[in-house]
Amino acid sequence: MNIFIDVHCHLADSRIAANLEQELAEAKKAGVDHFISSALCNEEFELIQLPKFQKLRKFIKWSAGIHPYYEKTDENDFQSLIRLCDDKQIIAIGEIGLDKRKDNFEWQKKILLTQLDLAKNYDLPVIFHTVKQYYELDKILKNNFPKVRGFLHAFNASQEIFEIFKKYDLGFSLNAKPPKDEVICAIIKHGFYFFETDAPYMRPRELNEDFNHLKNLVWVVKQISQKANTNLEALKEKQYKNVCDMFDFGVH
Ligand SMILES: [Zn+2]
Repeated sequence: MNIFIDVHCHLADSRIAANLEQELAEAKKAGVDHFISSALCNEEFELIQLPKFQKLRKFIKWSAGIHPYYEKTDENDFQSLIRLCDDKQIIAIGEIGLDKRKDNFEWQKKILLTQLDLAKNYDLPVIFHTVKQYYELDKILKNNFPKVRGFLHAFNASQEIFEIFKKYDLGFSLNAKPPKDEVICAIIKHGFYFFETDAPYMRPRELNEDFNHLKNLVWVVKQISQKANTNLEALKEKQYKNVCDMFDFGVH
């Protein structure tokens, strides 16, 4: 199966949305044709329902959530998030999580728990955003949602943290800023991995672009393939299987 999926990008971000057709065409030319895009506030939740995205539903799936750090985050968007679940507009809750760059841990924890509960109620996987709070996230999951399933987006933590999260039904998603080589190798050996651009964020510095593009998924996976000394096609195929096992992706 030759389907190449970017499991985490931001098609609602104006840098991508303004040039959507070109972004998608360039990605397709590079071999990337399926996406899980993240929507993080009411304004972005509404974009999902626009005809331009609805007509691409076969290739573009959405996750939605209230992010711990995003500038447009508003917890009042929670009601709209429930509506997206009810209307079956999303295949995952996220990105949600904990981010140490902001000093509002109690609020972050509260909104995270509420959304984990939502994911459980709608039987949806979760996409986690975690910055320097892996131990806290582990504590919260262990005590409240040990059966959570989904993946840790932009995973670039240590071997020790990989070992902790390996115990959950959570995959590890790698992008242009991956962890150390030994951790990459451990993740690839473990087999529960995904690949993402996080475009327009996480710009690969080596490519000298203003922002990250969807087509750069190929660059990301090439780097991983070299570091883990594993064939790129094998990585693509395993990721595709992982996506099908985890998400209601609807590609057959
Ligand atoms: Zn993101």
